[in-house]
Amino acid sequence: MSFENLWRDQSAIGRDAETGGYTRGGWTPTEREATTWFLDQCATRGLAVESDGIGNLIAWWGSPDRPGVVTGSHLDSVIDGGAFDGPLGVVSALAAVDLLRAEGFTPSVPLGVGAFVEEEGSRFGMPCLGSRVAAGVLSADKALALTDRQGVTLAAALEAAGTDPAGVGPSPLLERMGTFVELHVEQGRGLTPPVGVASSIWPHGRYRFTFEGEANHAGTTLMEDRHDPMLTYAMTALAANKQARLAGARATFGRLSIEPNGTNAVPSRVIAWLDARAADTATLESLLAAITRQAVERAERDGTTVAVVPESVSPIVDFPAGLRDRLVGVLDGAPVLPTGAGHDAGVFSAAGIPTAMLFVRNPTGISHSPAEFAEEDDCLAGVEALAAVLKDLAQ
Ligand SMILES: [Zn+2]
Repeated sequence: MSFENLWRDQSAIGRDAETGGYTRGGWTPTEREATTWFLDQCATRGLAVESDGIGNLIAWWGSPDRPGVVTGSHLDSVIDGGAFDGPLGVVSALAAVDLLRAEGFTPSVPLGVGAFVEEEGSRFGMPCLGSRVAAGVLSADKALALTDRQGVTLAAALEAAGTDPAGVGPSPLLERMGTFVELHVEQGRGLTPPVGVASSIWPHGRYRFTFEGEANHAGTTLMEDRHDPMLTYAMTALAANKQARLAGARATFGRLSIEPNGTNAVPSRVIAWLDARAADTATLESLLAAITRQAVERAERDGTTVAVVPESVSPIVDFPAGLRDRLVGVLDGAPVLPTGAGHDAGVFSAAGIPTAMLFVRNPTGISHSPAEFAEEDDCLAGVEALAAVLKDLAQ
């Protein structure tokens, strides 16, 4: 089956008819449907699928009796996300297997196609949840206690999906991953030719800011008598924007929870989640310190309080230079570029698995949005590049 057919086949799963965006949160019906589609495709190809306790999957071409070459990505999405972030890597992996088989190639080591769960963290708030648990950097206890916006724990979500939470923990699948290559849509406008190779992933933090004040009547409370945490938050969001620009970094408040969330009430509490990223750890730390300092100063003026809790902090990932250069050689000098986006590839690389990433050109640079896009010709170039890389690594 060609890339075009595979792509079309899965493209309706989880798509919102109005926005054109995708919502495939971990262990939701849409993500399960996408997973079922993947399993069907593996069965069609005679690839034997192995699963670990949390539900990461690797489908094997050849018996995984020794470490193999694994490629793949994720099938989940952010809320109202794009079509390409994740599925492009899984679909391209299957298409690359088809291409290699059509050429008559036989890998000399097992070749795996992986799909890793809840990479976006859109349901349980933890990015790369599946790979972090698999690599043992997130304990089973902490993972199972995570809750979604409805208060459902991961343990309960697994049980509802028919999975025993007792199986969650470090994954035997990692021992089979001799090398990992993730193909992904590029998420900025960093690529001129259709395909590039990743150099590094910026360090990345998610921080919860809790601003507390005093709920009061919007009509009768004098402006000077208020302790309004919304003002403290608002100034903090502006400070984050300014500090990130000054540092050449990225800072985003994209999620809020407001209490009591009434039009005619001064709020008592605003919880805001900061996503911050920078080219290196020192810059990220000083960015967070600068934003926090300005938040605290403003809280003093507003008569409010602010508390900052890191929810997840991922260090910089420098992909191994030898493997990266090998890919560049196979791909005739493809450009090398860093990314500000986190990936399972970063978790696996930090866990010591030789890991590389391929990026497919994104003409607008838009990602995590229904407008995310890649040209079909570029996707086909991605499949060819991935097939060439797999052939080189598994010959
Ligand atoms: Zn992704």
